[in-house]
Amino acid sequence: MREKNNRQRIEAFIDRKTKKKSNWFDWRWQVAHTVRDLETAENLLGLKLKKDRREQIKKTVEKFPIAITPYYLSLIDTKNVDYDPIFMQSFPSIHELDSCPSEMSDPLQEDHDSPVKGITHRYPDRVLFLVSNLCSMYCRHCTRKRKVGDRDYIPNKAQIKKGLAYIRNTKQVRDVLLSGGDPLMLSDDYLEWILSELRKIPHVEIIRIGTRMPVVLPYRITSTLVKMLKKYHPLWINTHFNHPRELTESSREALRKLADAGIPLGNQTVLLSGINDCPRIMKILVQRLLINRVRPYYLYQCDLSEGLMHFRTPIGKGIEIMENLIGHTTGMAVPTYVIDAPGGGGKIPVMPNYLISWSTNKVILRNYEGVICTYKEPDSYEPIFCDRKCDDCKLQLNLEGAHEDKAVGIRKLIDDYNDTTSLTPQGTERIKRRNKKS
Ligand SMILES: *Cc1c(COP(=O)(O)O)cnc(C)c1O
Repeated sequence: MREKNNRQRIEAFIDRKTKKKSNWFDWRWQVAHTVRDLETAENLLGLKLKKDRREQIKKTVEKFPIAITPYYLSLIDTKNVDYDPIFMQSFPSIHELDSCPSEMSDPLQEDHDSPVKGITHRYPDRVLFLVSNLCSMYCRHCTRKRKVGDRDYIPNKAQIKKGLAYIRNTKQVRDVLLSGGDPLMLSDDYLEWILSELRKIPHVEIIRIGTRMPVVLPYRITSTLVKMLKKYHPLWINTHFNHPRELTESSREALRKLADAGIPLGNQTVLLSGINDCPRIMKILVQRLLINRVRPYYLYQCDLSEGLMHFRTPIGKGIEIMENLIGHTTGMAVPTYVIDAPGGGGKIPVMPNYLISWSTNKVILRNYEGVICTYKEPDSYEPIFCDRKCDDCKLQLNLEGAHEDKAVGIRKLIDDYNDTTSLTPQGTERIKRRNKKS
């Protein structure tokens, strides 16, 4: 009920101000009415923050601006702002101004591994392609906080073309990850132009889109968008739920549309102090994601970006959460816990130890319940000598999918290995009668 009350209040307020009827479910309306100042946010929620808190937030906003979609704003539990995960991810906090010497503006050195503007080429076979500098909401825990709000723009075709040219000229890139900003801030047409250009490049095997729209503006996932996206398969989407409360009816509807279009969905969660640093919350989150056909992909240790100190937890908290997931729930629900290495080393997976000892012929393991067992290794194992001269190798190195012999017509009856015993024309009156009866 609270959700509805908030929404009614927000709509009434905006209607009065703009003298127009609001269009809540239209994503462009939501974007146009994104809340960008504290007073409006307070007014829309009927919230009265204490004077010193308001002063603190104002000071923070000078450095790290505010943007909240009316939709996400409407989910805030106004009676519980100090602990509400929605509030904490969207409202600035004075702690963003706390600094510590280990923080950096670009800890992942994305700007260093950038051969052309907008592309980060860190791993051998895939690139990050920033196609939008816009977000519908500014998450307080954004790892690219250095860029948030500084110059909101969508790169023009000339700039995107430079990125495309890099990908076209770099044969080893088989996976392109569109990110930003939020790529779904682009119009359907502009996004389709980028996708179609990428699809013209023969060595680009898969395309991925990283977007938080299903969480902060689920109305962006329109039937028209989905119909367009499914033309560019294999296309994968990763989204960013951090707390089960974000899985609203509208969010679930957005996920359903994407999944029904055959788009495999993944989720990247950031481990955030005071929001989801709890094994119980995390377990519910990953299980609910699976119900909605979203596979938990990564759990990120919070980066060393400037302004995120108050969100950071010790690594031990992440390990504790993994300890509570692995074995205790569906394997597919368990994300990989990663630390994105400061200095640009990329993602490093960490997890509890399951290998407790080792000798030359035995491995000692423990399971999630504390069972300790030995795995006896084979007495003999003939390693395959490998000098990368594959011609002499006995392994099957023809890696194309095996050819399936598909018998057609009378051959189905003639071939000895085929079990077919009769071919019956379909659609005759007799068969129709038969089908009706059964
Ligand atoms: C995360 C990331 C990728 C994708 O990594 P996967 O492990 O393949 O999901 C690619 N490039 C950069 C720079 C990244 O940070």
